[in-house]
Amino acid sequence: MKTVHEFGDVRSLAVGRVGLVLTMGFLHEGHLSLIEAARENVDTVVVSIFVNPLQFNEPSDFVSYPRDRERDAALAEAAGADVLFVPDDSTMYPSEPVTRIEVGGVADGMEGAKRPGHFAGVATVVGKLFAGTQPDLAYFGRKDAQQLAVVRTMVRDLSFPVDIVGRPIVRESEGLALSSRNVRLDPSSRTHALALSGALFQVADAFEAGERSVVDLTASIEERLRGENRVVFEYAEIANAPDAAVTNHIGTEVFLAAAIRVGNVRLIDNVYLDPVSGVADRGIRLSAPSILYEGV
Ligand code: AMP
Repeated sequence: MKTVHEFGDVRSLAVGRVGLVLTMGFLHEGHLSLIEAARENVDTVVVSIFVNPLQFNEPSDFVSYPRDRERDAALAEAAGADVLFVPDDSTMYPSEPVTRIEVGGVADGMEGAKRPGHFAGVATVVGKLFAGTQPDLAYFGRKDAQQLAVVRTMVRDLSFPVDIVGRPIVRESEGLALSSRNVRLDPSSRTHALALSGALFQVADAFEAGERSVVDLTASIEERLRGENRVVFEYAEIANAPDAAVTNHIGTEVFLAAAIRVGNVRLIDNVYLDPVSGVADRGIRLSAPSILYEGV
């Protein structure tokens, strides 16, 4: 694996079909599952690591975002990356950027409503990374279901020549969705955070048992999360999977997304619900403790 810092170096190392995995680093098994999926499908696997200031709406979250480049390099290489692209701030933003990619509609609800400017920051950096690295495929996690819909919409509307691949959520053995921010949860907060996946799984069970009322499904998750100790409920919504439009009817594949805060850590999670098969996608669970907490 080669570590490079300039867009041109990524392009000159690319051979055959290129797969890009975009991350903000502090890698965990969720990121590694994307790298492994790319490894199976492309000739050159590029992993980018950039903590993108444009997408943080809380400065303290940006400052405290976990960072460990040596650890990331070892993990990315072991998972099959060929090129690790770690641009400096000056490569990504040589001067104060005045251009933003604003994706209408799909970016407005849920995370977009709670985090003003977040998706414009995401779409802008994803657009830059696509333009600069020119991948054939790019891999994203369903953990960020609305982000996946925003990226798919941007790619369609701006004709980026890249195929977007969405991959399942990877969870800790008890159910908590892996997130780099989880390292900021102390053990007791991590136990409280389990309420989020627990509530989503309960709704997934109800869906699989035949419940189709959006009002009842979202009300039951809200009620459960509002009743949890040390959990601050933010939202629970059902949205159509392709365009993240909040809906009152489960006619096509949807995701039920929810957000909570535990202490100063904000957590999002979701389950996808497919009315055709009647099956809920709860993602994949690790059987062993996550690498996230090794040495922490
Ligand atoms: P991040 O580093 O948090 O910006 O995430 C980089 C990519 O990894 C995004 O496509 C995320 O959706 C994906 N990702 C993050 N956490 C998980 C997870 N637990 N399971 C699957 N994919 C994930």
